[in-house]
Amino acid sequence: MRYFGIDLGTSNTLIYEKGRGIVLREPSVVAREARSGKVVAVGGEARLMLGKTPGSITAFKPLRDGVIAEFDVTAKMLHRFFRKVAGNSFFSRPKVIVCIPYGVTEVEKRAVEDATLEAGAQSVALIEEPIASAIGAGLNIASARGNMIVDIGGGTTEVAVISLGGIVLSNSLRTAGDKLDEAITGYVKRKYNVVIGDTSAENLKKTIGSVFPGIKPGTMDVRGRNLLTGLPATVTIASEELMEAMDEDITHVVECICSSLENTPPELAADIYDNGIMLAGGGALLAGLPNLVYKVTGVRTHVAKMPLDCVALGIGKVIESPDNTLGDSVSYRTR
Ligand code: ADP
Ligand code: MG
Repeated sequence: MRYFGIDLGTSNTLIYEKGRGIVLREPSVVAREARSGKVVAVGGEARLMLGKTPGSITAFKPLRDGVIAEFDVTAKMLHRFFRKVAGNSFFSRPKVIVCIPYGVTEVEKRAVEDATLEAGAQSVALIEEPIASAIGAGLNIASARGNMIVDIGGGTTEVAVISLGGIVLSNSLRTAGDKLDEAITGYVKRKYNVVIGDTSAENLKKTIGSVFPGIKPGTMDVRGRNLLTGLPATVTIASEELMEAMDEDITHVVECICSSLENTPPELAADIYDNGIMLAGGGALLAGLPNLVYKVTGVRTHVAKMPLDCVALGIGKVIESPDNTLGDSVSYRTR
């Protein structure tokens, strides 16, 4: 029996296979024909079409804000990803664990399960993102000590305090990587009258983006379209400008961490002061973020070793654990 773990993220989908490790890493993007609704490409191939599609094809992110906005499309995307890793051997329908954001509703949970079964799974179980993320980041979640994990993805930021294998407290924010990209786009438009694409904004953020003075300074040229002339234009953006552009959204993220700390029961808060805060998800790679969180909270802040892989590696540990001790929190639903 094949056994898969899926991190169904708003930006990236990762698949872990028992005994093999991470077997797929693709952007959660779908391209489809506008008229027929037929899916023409998914993942990296579809991502190349984002913002560049001819009128007859639309490329979009079906999970945009951490929820399944487009159920059918998500199911089709999963189906294609499955086929990619499992070939046509779907007569041996796999067992699947899917990771979903903590804040989702029962209806949304059900939609993810349905999409997974629809895509060919024999049985499906859900695991909460903070748990998977914490396991993947190497935290000892089963201990009686409090740990704080902050997962910053594309669509959502999740702050959770975990103790004895369970979530004691969590806060979910729909401010994460995508919002930062939009803030950068808005800033460049206001300041330079130049419109840049989402992908260019994301490149700026990844290459010279920083949220703490003196960390990763630099400049980068970006191409866009001048709003006044309508002509292509190139502007040079400095790291300090991105700091200004991202300031408001980053402040929300840091405030969410602070209020979570304030609401943590005192004994667990003391543990967190000892252990530090763990950052995961792609947003954890934002230069200067651990410095900023430390400065504001006074708590040492670490970045997980492989922030983008954390969740998939965490589900991996659950499905590889022989006695499934880590799997207490998952229960399977069958077709
Ligand atoms: P999700 O779990 O929602 O799919 P991920 O954990 O895969 O999200 O993270 C994707 C987000 O991380 C995107 O917004 C992306 O721009 C951002 N990201 C990836 N690498 C970096 C980096 N080096 N610096 C800043 N942000 C990054
Ligand atoms: Mg994620």
